[in-house]
Amino acid sequence: MKKYSLWLDNISNEKEPILKEDIDCDILIVGGGMTGLSTAYHLKDSNLKIVVVEKNQIGRGISARTTGKVTYLQDTIYSDLTNTYSETIAKKYFYSQKDAIELISSIVNQEKIDCNMKKVSSYIFSKEKEGLQKEKKLLKQFGVSIVEANMKGYYAIGVEDTYVFHPIKYIQALKDICKKDGIQFYEHTDINFIKEKDRGYICGNEFIKIRAKKVVLACHYPYFLFPFLMPLKCTLEKSYISATPVKKIESYSAISIEKPIISLRYHEAEENYLIYLTNSHSLYKEYDDQKHFEELKKCLERLELNPKYLWSNHDIMTFDKLPFVGLLKTNLYLATGYNTWGMTNSNLAGKIISDMIMDIYNPYETLFSPKRKLKKLSLPETIYGGIKPMIENKVWKNKDWYPENVYFETRNGKNVAIYVDKSKTEHIVYNTCPHLKCSLLFNSVEKTWDCPCHGSRFDLDGKVIIGPSNYDITYHE
Ligand SMILES: Cc1cc2nc3c(=O)[nH]c(=O)nc-3n(C[C@H](O)[C@H](O)[C@H](O)COP(=O)(O)OP(=O)(O)OC[C@H]3O[C@@H](n4cnc5c(N)ncnc54)[C@H](O)[C@@H]3O)c2cc1C
Repeated sequence: MKKYSLWLDNISNEKEPILKEDIDCDILIVGGGMTGLSTAYHLKDSNLKIVVVEKNQIGRGISARTTGKVTYLQDTIYSDLTNTYSETIAKKYFYSQKDAIELISSIVNQEKIDCNMKKVSSYIFSKEKEGLQKEKKLLKQFGVSIVEANMKGYYAIGVEDTYVFHPIKYIQALKDICKKDGIQFYEHTDINFIKEKDRGYICGNEFIKIRAKKVVLACHYPYFLFPFLMPLKCTLEKSYISATPVKKIESYSAISIEKPIISLRYHEAEENYLIYLTNSHSLYKEYDDQKHFEELKKCLERLELNPKYLWSNHDIMTFDKLPFVGLLKTNLYLATGYNTWGMTNSNLAGKIISDMIMDIYNPYETLFSPKRKLKKLSLPETIYGGIKPMIENKVWKNKDWYPENVYFETRNGKNVAIYVDKSKTEHIVYNTCPHLKCSLLFNSVEKTWDCPCHGSRFDLDGKVIIGPSNYDITYHE
């Protein structure tokens, strides 16, 4: 079995150069995921000098581990937004998602992108019919025609005008198009400081500087956003995902509205797959990845599915369920917080930010503004989500969280964690996240060191694979 995402197999491995000298540009996009590529794509005809820098490889972050549904039926988002804000806000969000789907499908058609995009119905399902009534009523008010179904004992409502696709093929195609239009891409180039200078910014790392008139932070969880205080404005949700080869594929995707969340879709390719996700939980509340993978495997056994791929992924959840997209301060833009609906929202974010940069009116600019007054920012959630895990993980290191082949010791005066693999080779790392110094947990399925506070992930030898950390935890004698 492969312990990584299905989307990372059989894709182009074309590499971009590392930036080795100081440069100037009009727009610097930090992060080469779905958000960064979408922003670059919408700016490609602007005559501006655009540079995209990615600290790993383009399209290998959160977007490479998603389920890849392109839908506006997203849990009970419209009821939730109506409760938190108003029906008007819920309706505006609905139109934003419809527009995002239209945007993605028109790009795929116009650019003839081969990314397995397929029109399928989307369903949300529940054990209780009652739980879906408000969502159904709101969707009907918005003019959506709803289908009802019984899915193996669950009540489900569905819509027909939604899609699924291969996220990485889409990202790689956008990169190729942008490169033809002169946009420069650099990989293995991280930005770990941003300083204001002459109404623009100087960004870079210990080796290079980039002078940019405007900067777009498309890096999922920015490392350096003081004083935006990300940890106090969002939580993170982690899920466990599988892909199993199947003979027959169905033309629908579905997600439950109750916990444990079950989400599924089919992927039609040379070998067809059922992608099945379950056991989502707040990153801060549960630390035992092994247990969650075991539960996923038990579900798959019950369904007589023998998975070929297993992986986990996490996304940023905002307290009011609206993304943060737009201007943070003069000439500095942010796009993140998609609440696990980042296929639509990252594409929309790219359009909103590019419109703002080019002074074009965009109807969703205020809806997603990162400067909005957060309606739902309760103190307990803030403490739980932002502060408690940081303190807890600094203070305690519970041995039960780690498997037997991981142990801790002090080497040369430094606390290190050691994983001993099957061939008895030691993999030594510092067991502290460089971001905010939380203790790291060992994910024994994917063989990664994962931060339970803000989601940074490192490979066996300490190289950072997912931020916010920009630094490795590799141990050097
Ligand atoms: C389990 C799961 C399932 C999901 N399923 C769906 C779905 O079906 N449909 C849907 O709409 N959404 C889904 N999502 C949400 C979606 O996958 C994400 O919201 C989206 O991929 C985020 O894209 P991004 O570009 O912001 O982040 P990323 O893809 O992570 O891109 C950010 C990039 O920035 C780079 N970076 C970070 N820091 C720096 C730095 N300092 N310097 C340079 N580069 C940097 C990173 O290496 C990374 O490549 C799901 C999420 C999860 C967790």
